[in-house]
Amino acid sequence: MNVDVVIIGGGIVGASTALALSHGGLSVALVEASLPQENNAEWDSRIYAITPGNAEFLRDLGVWNALDASRINPIHAMQVWGDPSNGPLNFDAYSAGVAELGFILENRLMHTALWKALEQVQDLEVLCPARCSALEFGKDAVQLTLEDGRNLSTKLIIAADGANSWVRKQAGVEVVAESYHQLGVVANFETEKPHGNIARQWFKDDGILAWLPLLGNRISMVWSAFEPQAATLLELTPEQFCHTVAEAGHHSLGAMNSITPPTAFPLVLQRNQSMIAPRLAMVGDAAHQVHPLAGQGMNLGLRDVQVLVEVLLKTQRDVGDWATLRRYERARKADVFAMSSVTDGLQKLFNNNDPMLGFLRNTGLRMVNHLPQVKRALMARALA
Ligand SMILES: Cc1cc2nc3c(=O)[nH]c(=O)nc-3n(C[C@H](O)[C@H](O)[C@H](O)COP(=O)(O)OP(=O)(O)OC[C@H]3O[C@@H](n4cnc5c(N)ncnc54)[C@H](O)[C@@H]3O)c2cc1C
Repeated sequence: MNVDVVIIGGGIVGASTALALSHGGLSVALVEASLPQENNAEWDSRIYAITPGNAEFLRDLGVWNALDASRINPIHAMQVWGDPSNGPLNFDAYSAGVAELGFILENRLMHTALWKALEQVQDLEVLCPARCSALEFGKDAVQLTLEDGRNLSTKLIIAADGANSWVRKQAGVEVVAESYHQLGVVANFETEKPHGNIARQWFKDDGILAWLPLLGNRISMVWSAFEPQAATLLELTPEQFCHTVAEAGHHSLGAMNSITPPTAFPLVLQRNQSMIAPRLAMVGDAAHQVHPLAGQGMNLGLRDVQVLVEVLLKTQRDVGDWATLRRYERARKADVFAMSSVTDGLQKLFNNNDPMLGFLRNTGLRMVNHLPQVKRALMARALA
């Protein structure tokens, strides 16, 4: 098989890359190891806060409008607490002059909608389930061999195969990885009181707790907890777990009842030495992994896709040309660097029991609340 681009990894980032490049007229092959899970009847505890900018991108791809609207919940405001004795830092859509600050939706819902859209595209080869066995980067083309013996030849490989990218390893791109020694414990709940479409977040010295509004009186929780505490949370009975979560959020939504069992993900900061290599571009977690405290990992990945697609569809050269790939990397560097540095800085500033830092962070939060220009700058990034 000979195609313009081969994308390895068909998660949300890889599937949206395939869709956007195919719509743009390139011939594309997408290689994915396993079929997406389709069970959308149950709630998925893996959720994303998607920015309005990325929702617009998914709308342009024809995917957003195909989603079950009854499972998408807008965020109208955000409240962020540092020291509980101080009031929260408030952000709201009305002051930002937008209809909503973002949308909460489930991973499985988004993933299956993207894969359904892929089925409608001609000139797109989806190879799934398929496992890669060898990659050979040549001067003018790349050869990919699958375990079943099939061979693909292409001008450009796009690595969208997640944080432990096999492709990145084959290309010898180095990464610096640092464990936060935290797990992101996720679960969904029904709550006694309405959430008012407000995303709530508590920065504590032993972790970060986020409650994100789902449809009706439901929320999705992401609790970034240090490993021993996370292990304890996962061992609680459902009743104890609900009580502990409600207490950690100061019972602000009343009693809670879990609607999905808790599950957990290790949290890692991963910086790539580069987002490109000869005839290779990396997107999503294959290119960077950040702490989820700002709900920005997937959003960064979708912004990689938008920029890469724009650069590739505009180029007059071959799509794997080094100058073209450099344009992609240059355009993405600042956003990726800023997001990984800000999330890392906040995690270290807050998940720390140094009293001096405690003073600094609470004074900082209070100051930001009274500095409209700083708030506007923070909001601009969160809406992109
Ligand atoms: C607790 C938690 C909460 C989060 N919350 C948010 C949030 O609210 N908002 C947000 O923006 N981000 C959030 N994130 C980050 C987000 O989950 C990731 O950034 C995102 O899932 C990365 O998507 P991806 O498609 O790049 O990688 P993945 O989702 O890892 O997809 C990689 C795909 O590649 C396939 N694959 C892997 N290896 C191969 C191979 N060799 N051959 C073929 N296929 C292969 C896999 O099967 C998979 O389908 C959160 C992360 C965590 C841990």
